Amino acid sequence: MTTTEKYNIAIIGAGIMGLNCAYALSKDGHTITAYDPQDIPSNNASFVAGGMLAPFSEIEHLPESFIEAGLRSIDIWQDILPDLKNKVDFKQNGSLMIAHKEDTYLLDRFESHLPKSSQQWQKMNKEDIAQLEPQLADKFKTGIYIAGEAHIHPREAMQAISSTLKTMKNFSHQKCEAYPDTINSKYDYVIDCRGYAAEVDDPELRGIKGELLIVRNEKFELDRPVRLMHPRYPLYIVPRPDHVFMIGATIIEGAEEDDEQVSVRSALELLSALYSLHPSFDEAKILEIIAGIRPAYNDNLPRIKINKNVISCNGLFRHGFLLSPIIAKCITASIKGKTTAFTGLFTKGTSDETHHQRQEKNIQTVA
Ligand SMILES: Cc1cc2nc3c(=O)[nH]c(=O)nc-3n(C[C@H](O)[C@H](O)[C@H](O)COP(=O)(O)OP(=O)(O)OC[C@H]3O[C@@H](n4cnc5c(N)ncnc54)[C@H](O)[C@@H]3O)c2cc1C
Repeated sequence: MTTTEKYNIAIIGAGIMGLNCAYALSKDGHTITAYDPQDIPSNNASFVAGGMLAPFSEIEHLPESFIEAGLRSIDIWQDILPDLKNKVDFKQNGSLMIAHKEDTYLLDRFESHLPKSSQQWQKMNKEDIAQLEPQLADKFKTGIYIAGEAHIHPREAMQAISSTLKTMKNFSHQKCEAYPDTINSKYDYVIDCRGYAAEVDDPELRGIKGELLIVRNEKFELDRPVRLMHPRYPLYIVPRPDHVFMIGATIIEGAEEDDEQVSVRSALELLSALYSLHPSFDEAKILEIIAGIRPAYNDNLPRIKINKNVISCNGLFRHGFLLSPIIAKCITASIKGKTTAFTGLFTKGTSDETHHQRQEKNIQTVA
């Protein structure tokens, strides 16, 4: 049954998932209390993300059935951003995939995963690359351009959502060290967005460490994120204003919650791959080397789980910025007693359900 009733809702965890839920539900007129051990925006996995909104580029990590959801999230970011108090660096200039000559087989493999019928991507030769990213054309002769993909500045986005929430009368924030026992009975709904910290209650969750480098290179310019395909050290580089670039990211299994230091080996790998992209990076200044723990389930796909009045959204792995806006939409719909075209995709029915089954379920929901 659908409802327009307004509820008292707790959000546990103010990463990008919690912030997007808090914003969407506050805008819907519900009374929201966000709990997090830190002030918001807090320093968490979301705060160290690269901010790529790239559902096609992620095809080796995210099944094709999630592409539409990712594109819908990009639209939602475009709707949200003009209403926020602070400006956020967001651009929709597409992405470019490239490989060194000896690694072009990786581009072919990547291409074989892309949806054949999509108009969103095209192969590039040296001249095409020179048009898009002139400084890369000397070294790279083939590539794949993917239109429609975007990138966002994660910290600016989190700051802007947090500042805007703080001006809303129906929003408040409380610091808390643990998930308070009494919370489930105190609120109409509890939205659990604790990221990897929820692993204490959810044994299916695991942590995957990701490390990222931030540099300034006054001699280099990019208009869009570029991915360098490499058999051992694949990297992406995301341009920020003022010649700043984010370079990431490692994927290290078996991470512990407090394992947020970057290893020498990862730093060397990221720096070597970066230097192979363009020689001007030898003079670049390292601004930060950072790490975070991505929350993931065994299939590396996000899930919404509902248990009485508790709704948990977790397992966003490499796709917190890409998918949290559409997941937040599914949550707001669910609280109204409705479903969206994507609800089935994120709702985990049984513990061994694969994404193919979820896709079928999604189609049934839409129908
Ligand atoms: C290096 C790196 C690069 C990445 N790049 C990208 C990218 O380019 N694009 C993309 O889409 N995604 C990217 N990601 C993935 C993205 O960052 C994650 O998917 C996302 O951060 C998950 O968000 P979350 O809100 O679920 O968890 P988190 O960001 O970890 O937030 C969880 C919050 O819960 C709080 N919390 C924990 N326990 C409690 C408690 N008991 N009570 C209250 N609060 C609690 C924590 O303090 C924290 O603030 C990247 C990740 C990393 C590490």
